[in-house]
Amino acid sequence: MSLLTFRGGVHPPEKKELAEHKEIKFLPLPEKVYIYTTNHIGAPAKILVEPGQKVKTGQKIGEANGFISANIHSSVTGEVVEIVKMTNAATGTKNDVIVIQRTGEDEWDLISGYGDYSKKTPEEIIGIVKEAGIVGLGGAMFPSHVKMSVPKGKKAEYLIINAAECEPYITIDYRMMLEKSVEIVKGIKIIMHATGVKKAYIGIENNKPAAIEKMKEAVSGEPIEIKVLKTKYPQGAEKQLIYAITKKEVPSGGLPLDVGAIVFNVSTTYAIYEAVEKGKPLVERGITLTGEGIKNPGNFIYRIGTLTKDLLNHVGLVEEEKIDRILYGGPMMGIPLPNIELPTFKGNNALTVMTKDIVPHKEVFPCIRCSKCVQVCPINLMPYLLKMQVEKREYDKSLEYGLMDCIECGSCSFACPAGIELVKTFKTGKKVARALKGRAKK
Ligand code: SF4
Ligand code: SF4
Repeated sequence: MSLLTFRGGVHPPEKKELAEHKEIKFLPLPEKVYIYTTNHIGAPAKILVEPGQKVKTGQKIGEANGFISANIHSSVTGEVVEIVKMTNAATGTKNDVIVIQRTGEDEWDLISGYGDYSKKTPEEIIGIVKEAGIVGLGGAMFPSHVKMSVPKGKKAEYLIINAAECEPYITIDYRMMLEKSVEIVKGIKIIMHATGVKKAYIGIENNKPAAIEKMKEAVSGEPIEIKVLKTKYPQGAEKQLIYAITKKEVPSGGLPLDVGAIVFNVSTTYAIYEAVEKGKPLVERGITLTGEGIKNPGNFIYRIGTLTKDLLNHVGLVEEEKIDRILYGGPMMGIPLPNIELPTFKGNNALTVMTKDIVPHKEVFPCIRCSKCVQVCPINLMPYLLKMQVEKREYDKSLEYGLMDCIECGSCSFACPAGIELVKTFKTGKKVARALKGRAKK
């Protein structure tokens, strides 16, 4: 059987073996949580509480403040102690953070109207998903209720569940499929019911045979098909996944809906099930704590807003001098943590602690025009050329050559024999190009 795939891509060491056999465990409740008002892309949530106020687990403490914004909830039962400003490493912005001291075990504040999805209208389901503050848990943090609200004039023909988990080291979605397959399928049926989609596909890479089998059993008799994908990075990138499964290309600057697709990650689908059928707002999620720098790697459920250092304390770190970096996410697309005092947020699917022996510091040489970066770019860009344009501040040219289409996957940097960190240049270039565009508008 030929495996489904896309053009380009790379094969970094998978390193899944560190955590893939570890069952998901619940971490103890944190003593204090720090809830960002930007736990999503879009405008910060409007704060609904003040210091001194008692809150329950799941209580709404911030209201979506704009079209692409999401509610936030207390992840413990306790008291709001202060509201401080902190940098969110994911969004790069400094925003308000609600600090809550836990005072006891959970007293839940559930979403009203939850229950059997089949008896609800699409509007009721989307309303619950919005109330629960669910966002894309694969890392994108795009509000799910917005994705589920298919605009007039557009039609969602198929739902794709992103179960590729192509990023090295991370295994939480794999474990979710092994341990929560029935609930994930319920989540898929809920999304189908709410969006009117009649056909769903679950895309899983062929390095996860146990998950493929488990999900095949769970979808038996449903209009849901398992699609086995070739193990290749970045197979889980939205456009590459859609292409591999449907052979349709999302146009430059376009959305999956332009080719009739809506895409949800495995953990997001599970969170939707928990909200609609159990009434649970998004206050906890799964994470892989992994890397050679962690003594006891594994997969865990943690409360959103727990400090990174508190999560790491549960799994233990090797000696500090051996650690190269700690990443939110995996080694290809992960964001290096400036310090471990920062809170976790809804998009945190992994913390990867890389050691110096695993990340040898490469010597960097001038570009030798070998075109390896071009061959591996899944978007068909010319990374070496884009880099020159950005460095010369030729932003107009770089935009013409597709700078904004770069998905920051890092495949070009990984493949470059000269050790050039191309993706770093593109991240900066995109920020500058956006700022220039904003200034020009004004
Ligand atoms: S892979 Fe590196 S050396 Fe080769 S063309 Fe691209 S930037 Fe230049
Ligand atoms: S140019 Fe962007 S999309 Fe292409 S390989 Fe590099 S990081 Fe990935």
